[in-house]
Amino acid sequence: MLNIGCHLSISKGYENMGKEALKINANTFQFFTRNPRGGKIKELNEEDINKLLELMKEHNFPIILAHAPYTMNLCSDKADIRDFAKNMMKEDLDRMEYLPGNMYNFHPGSHVGQGVEVGIQYISEALNEVLTKEQSTTVLLETMAGKGTEIGRSFEELKMIMDKVELKEKLGVCLDTCHVNDAGYDLNNLDVLLKQFDKIIGLKYLKAIHLNDSMNVVGAHKDRHQKIGEGTIGIDVFEKIINHPKLRNLPFYLETPNDLNGYAKEIKLLRGLYKE
Ligand code: FE
Ligand code: FE
Ligand code: ZN
Repeated sequence: MLNIGCHLSISKGYENMGKEALKINANTFQFFTRNPRGGKIKELNEEDINKLLELMKEHNFPIILAHAPYTMNLCSDKADIRDFAKNMMKEDLDRMEYLPGNMYNFHPGSHVGQGVEVGIQYISEALNEVLTKEQSTTVLLETMAGKGTEIGRSFEELKMIMDKVELKEKLGVCLDTCHVNDAGYDLNNLDVLLKQFDKIIGLKYLKAIHLNDSMNVVGAHKDRHQKIGEGTIGIDVFEKIINHPKLRNLPFYLETPNDLNGYAKEIKLLRGLYKE
């Protein structure tokens, strides 16, 4: 079965996201751990989380994916911003233990002119401070479009971060199709791309896929998501991605410009294209 869901809002709580996922025929979902622009985490409602866990069990959700606020920058040039980001990740990962065995995705960060090497150093140092042997959450680095001074625009950059992390077994990668397209990888040559990924990072680290079409051409370094089949990547490529033997069992997450109805349609479309 295709494991697919979309990004949902946590504003009405955890169980509500599970119910919304069921409504649109999803069996997984992604959510921001807090206001995507950062800010305080909501007080923990254990009863609500436990209801979500029950729902996931009853309906065979394989896994869910939390997403860190996209303003979180572990490699800022300002120490207080780096500390703030680290504390936020620490707090998020503590919270994730109430949803044991799931995943937490983050954008590596922007080096804001300090250079890629400095940025990579800061990011890996932060991960070494935050990750623990005891945690049950896998922390995913997202492939980025390379907008501005974003780190993670190439598989090599992600690999350099991962190699500096002691608890590497707690790490994985989330491949965003819009981002890799905009970063300069041509998804029309999917096998070439996956071979590169395997050689540089190792396919065993690929844990999730963000399924987004792109408004821009390969290498544009823009990061504007488009609805599935309405962008430059195109539906044929998405059909290949979800059915590829190396990818077909991963969880897929839509982050396309859609409301719940739009997501329901895309999920239906993609389930229809999946070869059981
Ligand atoms: Fe993201
Ligand atoms: Fe993404
Ligand atoms: Zn994006």
